[in-house]
Amino acid sequence: MAKRDLGARVSGTLTIGIDLGGTRVKAGVVDAAGAIVARRVEAVGADKDGAAVVARLAGVITGLQQECGLPVAAVGLAAAGVLDRARGVICESPNFPAWRDLALGRHLEAAVGLPVSLDNDANAVIYGEARAGAGRGAVNVVGFTLGTGVGGGIVLDGRLWRGTRGMAGELGHITVVPEGRPCGCGNRGCLEQYAGAVGLRQGLRDAGGDLARMADAPDAPERMAAQARAGNSRLRDIFDVMGDALGQAIATVVHTLDVQRIVLAGGLAPTADLFMPALTATFHARTFRSMAQGVRVLTGELGEDAGVVGAAIGCAR
Ligand SMILES: [Zn+2]
Repeated sequence: MAKRDLGARVSGTLTIGIDLGGTRVKAGVVDAAGAIVARRVEAVGADKDGAAVVARLAGVITGLQQECGLPVAAVGLAAAGVLDRARGVICESPNFPAWRDLALGRHLEAAVGLPVSLDNDANAVIYGEARAGAGRGAVNVVGFTLGTGVGGGIVLDGRLWRGTRGMAGELGHITVVPEGRPCGCGNRGCLEQYAGAVGLRQGLRDAGGDLARMADAPDAPERMAAQARAGNSRLRDIFDVMGDALGQAIATVVHTLDVQRIVLAGGLAPTADLFMPALTATFHARTFRSMAQGVRVLTGELGEDAGVVGAAIGCAR
């Protein structure tokens, strides 16, 4: 598309959103309405040293600016881990274990000459869905990211709620089974141990026999979904457990925050046909009827773009 035509189509300020994963960098130029007007997906590369990753991200940003040809106001960078958002520092990263207190935001600002704001990856996904995806039009939205683990984000009065330390939205660690499966956080019975890929694999191990042997297959969640849809009742039971766990967590969230929309995003959201019946039954059984009636539980609409869109429109506020 010609640059002049692009300028006529975009709405409001343009920003760049980057979703930095362990193996891939997804990035896009995004307008104020959350539409991606240019995009790039690149491998992180073998060199995971902080300086090398900064150089790669700077290259992605420069490439997007050249492709788009319109002024960009800021960059939003979403990454997993423990972040010090105010200082633009990644304290600890599950994807880059060698990083300790890396000032990624400041280094990137120096490299590209644009303001860079850092956010938690799950928060960015849910903010993107809340503003430009399945939560569009609702001001109070809570979302769960159903990936390897379970993350979350809380949007109240249209704004991302970050909490005192920037750690709000760790919804995967809501207790759903007292004295249940041990969790890496030190607690037992966390939602994450029953929902998401970690939870599904634990369900296979607990089922034993031939199912336990599937637990460590790289594609175990996909195989489980396919066989459950084909009628495997033992696998359907594991998705029921996932739905029941999510229903309990959603009841807690709705009683606490009185939100009107719940969004389920992440790689396992497309298995909602398998876990949604149990989720709905448990949520309604455990929630004040008058509160539950107004709540819509929806799967995300932005798919793999949600983190890019959320990081971009989040940094423009
Ligand atoms: Zn936990």
